Amino acid sequence: ATTLGVMGGGQLGRMFVHAAQQLGYRTVVLEAEADSPAAQAAHHQVRTAYLDPAGLAELVRECDAVTTEFENVPADALRELADHRPVAPAAAAVAVCQDRVAEKAHFAASGVPCAPYAVIDSETALAAVSDTLLPGILKTARLGYDGKGQVRVADRAALEAAWTDLQGVTCVLEQRLSLADELSVIVARGAAGEVVHLPVQHNLHRDGILAVTQVPAPGLDAAQVEQAVASAERIAASLDYVGVLCVEFFLLTDGSLVANEMAPRPHNSGHYSIDACDVSQFDLQVRCMTGLPLVAPRLHSPAVMLNLLGDLWFDAEGRERSPDWAAVLALPGVHLHLYGKAQARRGRKMGHLTLTGATPEAARDAALKAGALLGLEAF
Ligand code: ATP
Ligand code: MG
Ligand code: MG
Repeated sequence: ATTLGVMGGGQLGRMFVHAAQQLGYRTVVLEAEADSPAAQAAHHQVRTAYLDPAGLAELVRECDAVTTEFENVPADALRELADHRPVAPAAAAVAVCQDRVAEKAHFAASGVPCAPYAVIDSETALAAVSDTLLPGILKTARLGYDGKGQVRVADRAALEAAWTDLQGVTCVLEQRLSLADELSVIVARGAAGEVVHLPVQHNLHRDGILAVTQVPAPGLDAAQVEQAVASAERIAASLDYVGVLCVEFFLLTDGSLVANEMAPRPHNSGHYSIDACDVSQFDLQVRCMTGLPLVAPRLHSPAVMLNLLGDLWFDAEGRERSPDWAAVLALPGVHLHLYGKAQARRGRKMGHLTLTGATPEAARDAALKAGALLGLEAF
C-alpha cells in the first residue's frame, strides 16, 4: 500500500496521518468540513459527506486501504468501501461499538461483566424497569460522547422525565456504580488474530469528559492489570476485530472490574503513547490496516496526559485569550499537542499535553506544575 485513507477529519485522524506519513505513506482524509485537524495534515482531502457515492468512489480510487477515526461513521460507508479496498476495523465491528445495546450484549457474550442495565425502547420497557437500577444513568443507545446524551436519574420520576426529554429514543438505563477508579485498555489486533496492547491507562473524568490519564496506572495490582488486558483481548477476539480498539473499564469500590464501553479506534486515553511509548496507538493503527507486524509497545517513560479543553482559551470574564504556552514549555518532559482548531469552545478538545518523567512521581510533579500554570484543577 502507498496511500492510506481515513474517514473523519478530527484530531484522531490528524495524529493517524502523522504516524502514516512517518512511515512514508501518502494520506487522504474524507471529511465534509474545510480546514479540519486531519485535513490540515493530510496530502489530500475528499470533501464530501460520509455516504456520498462520489466521495466514496474517490476514496477508493485514491487509497489502498481505509480506516476510520470517527466512531459514528455510518457503518454502510465502511461496508461499501470494503467491497473495493481493505477496511479496518470492519463495518460489523464498528456497528457494535456504535450501539450501547449491541455493545453490552457483546460484553456479555465475551464473558466480561458490565453495569446492570435495562434497554428502554418503549413505555412498557420504561414501566418494567427494576428499582434496583436506580439511582441510575440514562444513556442514549447511539451517538453519545463526552457525557452528551446522558442523564443522571435519582428516581423513577426523574427517569420518566429524562426519557421524555430525550424524545423517547432507544436508551439504556445503567445502575450508577460506586467507582474507585476508571481504566482503559487499548489493544491492536491484526488480521491473523495476533494482538498487542498498550499499558493499562488510569483515567480521571470531569463532567463526563476525560481530563487526566496516568500511566503506569497507580494503585493497580498485577492481577487487576492482567484481568483488564485479558478482558479487552477477549472482547476484540470475539468481534474478530482488526485494528485498534479501546475498552473503558470501571474499577468498583469492591475491587471488581466491569466494562463500560468501547471505541473502535485510537482513544484519547492513549495519546500519551506518542511520547511515552516506542510504538504509539496511531503507529499500531497504521500497522493493523496495512498488515505490518504488530510489536508490543514498551512504555519508556512514565507519563501523565492532560486534556486541553476550549475552556482554557477564555478568561474569567469570558474573553478569548491564548494560554501561556511558553511557561508550560519551560517545564521538563513536556510534549504539547495542539490540533489546529480555529475556534475554541467550552468543553471542546483543543489539544493535549503529555508530561514524561524518569519516574511516575517526576511525571506527576511536572503535570501538576503545568496544570497550575494553566489553571487546571489538581488531580
Ligand atoms: P466517551 O467520551 O468516553 O465516549 P460517553 O459519553 O460515551 O463518553 P460514558 O463513558 O458512558 O460516556 O460515561 C462517561 C463517564 O460517566 C464515565 O467515564 C464515568 O465517569 C461516568 N459513568 C458512566 N456510566 C456510569 C455508571 N454506570 N456508574 C457510575 N459512573 C458512570
Ligand atoms: Mg463513549
Ligand atoms: Mg466513555
